[in-house]
Amino acid sequence: MKQLTANYHTHTYRCHHACGADRDYVENAIGAGITTLGFSDHSPMIFNTDYYSGFRMTLESVPGYFESLLSLREEYKNNIRIYIGVEVEYYPALFDGYLAYMAQFPLDYMILGQHFVRDEQTGIPSFRRTEDPDALRQYYDNVLAAAKTGKFLYIAHPDVFHYAGDEKAYNELTADFLTQLKPLGIPLELNRLGFADGRHYPRRAFWELCGQMDIPAVIGLDAHDPAVFRDEESVARLIAFGRDCGVRILPELELPDGYTE
Ligand SMILES: [Zn+2]
Ligand SMILES: [Zn+2]
Repeated sequence: MKQLTANYHTHTYRCHHACGADRDYVENAIGAGITTLGFSDHSPMIFNTDYYSGFRMTLESVPGYFESLLSLREEYKNNIRIYIGVEVEYYPALFDGYLAYMAQFPLDYMILGQHFVRDEQTGIPSFRRTEDPDALRQYYDNVLAAAKTGKFLYIAHPDVFHYAGDEKAYNELTADFLTQLKPLGIPLELNRLGFADGRHYPRRAFWELCGQMDIPAVIGLDAHDPAVFRDEESVARLIAFGRDCGVRILPELELPDGYTE
């Protein structure tokens, strides 16, 4: 994968919808010329009810996630730099409890993946098609509040919210969102999974605004299968898409101070 040396968006089988052994991700990444590999499986959330969220690691699987990746980091340290992160939602009412829980683990970074607005028990699913601009506004408000915590390395698929209403409203709300986001200096992710799958994201109108406003992007493979590291073709097309929208693409990110090496 000549065009990509770092990827911070990698899942594992623990989220119940990805496949392959942890080692296969590492070896495929090395084979593809990746030098920085960040794992970011779907984090468990600490719910205050007995609600079960089926697309995440369970609380019980988290220690094994860190043990396995710490051991692979050591084993492959001469070939690749491995970071251990999570992809996590910002559910305001649960976030402090979540941070307190994660503090026991050697976590390198978090990326924001806001698959639901506010929370997933009563909030709005980001993937559900809607023509309601107020729902889009709520999604953007949620993401902005998350970015303001300063806890996230970047925002995964920021254009994941499936708004299918009036395009003028989309552009206005998105421009307003990006205007507020820009001073925070948090990169956004061009998501390979959505792109290769032909999903509603990455959305051209969103990225053209990023291009106009000089908000940079990072490529995220969103790997749910080790074979993704061999998919050079869609990564090349995604980079071309980003450039065509005028977006500056960052090859590597600096992890915040205090993160483990
Ligand atoms: Zn995601
Ligand atoms: Zn993901």
